Amino acid sequence: MNRRCFLQMIGCLTVAAQSPQPIFARTYDNPEDIYARLKNSPDLRLSMCGGNISVGMDGDAGGLDKRRMEAWVRRSAAAVSAYFGRFPVDQWGLLVTPVEGDRIGPATTWGYPGSVTRLSVGRDVSDDALRENWVMVHEMTHLALPRFPQQNEWFMEGNATYVEPIARAQLGQISPQEVWRWVVEDMPKGQPQPDDEGLDHTHTWGRTYWGGAMYWLLAEIAIYKNSHGKYSLQDALRAINRASGGNKAYWSVAQAVQVGDAAVKSDALASLYGQLKDRAVAIDLDGVLRQLGISEQAGAIRFDDHAPLAELRRSITSLRKPDGSSTKACFITE
Ligand SMILES: [Zn+2]
Repeated sequence: MNRRCFLQMIGCLTVAAQSPQPIFARTYDNPEDIYARLKNSPDLRLSMCGGNISVGMDGDAGGLDKRRMEAWVRRSAAAVSAYFGRFPVDQWGLLVTPVEGDRIGPATTWGYPGSVTRLSVGRDVSDDALRENWVMVHEMTHLALPRFPQQNEWFMEGNATYVEPIARAQLGQISPQEVWRWVVEDMPKGQPQPDDEGLDHTHTWGRTYWGGAMYWLLAEIAIYKNSHGKYSLQDALRAINRASGGNKAYWSVAQAVQVGDAAVKSDALASLYGQLKDRAVAIDLDGVLRQLGISEQAGAIRFDDHAPLAELRRSITSLRKPDGSSTKACFITE
């Protein structure tokens, strides 16, 4: 099943705030139990790019041996760490629930009592499917930002939707064409429909995931323009991650945009938030793609290197130099 079908059918249930009951609950249906299980008896402990990772297998793993899970965790952690400059939290636990078949997901990520994720994986899944899959990187991206009030779910789901393919492309795990294909084909689903009341008040699937992702793409462009290419959205997101410590923190969107904007000496995040949170604003996505030099011709994604924002487009999917405590070595897994 491809990414779009998967998201449309079941979404990615990432929990923002107060004690939710995730769908498809099996034996471990609350974060306290998952946290205790992974803290006391993990099947695997890894240390990577500044993060200590515990992995547990819940029940009959069948063909899902822990070394296969380790390879997938390392590949995904490398992409997320490359984007954020380090693994986004100090401690993270992953509980894998083996299920029938070969599907990957659903997944749920919590920030309390610690950063933990529960993820269902089919016992018959192939190594190729694991290598190509995006769900683990999406969940790890959720670790990077604080939790927000429920009405701002679009802010974090949009962020994970936007960042996940870019993080993988920066390490060469997918092509830039694949990144922009999602934008060309799927981002229009984030446009406001009749009766839309803005991102904070319209909790449909399209507005939450792709409307949210559109906010982050517009922020990317605004930061680039305001700073004449000196700063990027990546700088703002790294700053929010460092200031909050990740998803154990609980912030308002106002706090996050203030920290992000300060890092890039701009008001782009706050200004866009003010424009989009309470009103239906249709975005000229065709115009945005033209500026970036992106088009789809006969099913292929084509780039125009003479477009006004072609340099920005190239930089988005290029590996940035590590900062602080991180080193390039920690991103290389194979
Ligand atoms: Zn999510």
